[in-house]
Amino acid sequence: MFIDEKRDVDLADLIDAIDATEGSGDRIPCRSGSVAATAIWTSDDADEQLEAASRCESCPVLAECRAYGLAHVREKGVWGGMTASQRKRANRRRPRFAA
Ligand code: SF4
Repeated sequence: MFIDEKRDVDLADLIDAIDATEGSGDRIPCRSGSVAATAIWTSDDADEQLEAASRCESCPVLAECRAYGLAHVREKGVWGGMTASQRKRANRRRPRFAA
């Protein structure tokens, strides 16, 4: 599978996980509130990124979103409670296994 195909499949899986929360009463913080309020997830400002990352902690799909963000570190913004630079650093520390 090519990288773009894997990204699309992984993103579809994450969106399915988000959709599965519909009707549960759980809030997805980055999808709740005004456009201005949710812009901090893609902000270039470090303080806003950290604020967004802290708000992810209450998200019902935190684990799935973090897994996506770690698998796709070139994605801009905060994913799964981690900024882009935190995800890159975490990926550098993860052991690599030969396929
Ligand atoms: S964990 Fe992912 S889906 Fe949840 S608020 Fe954070 S960025 Fe959004």
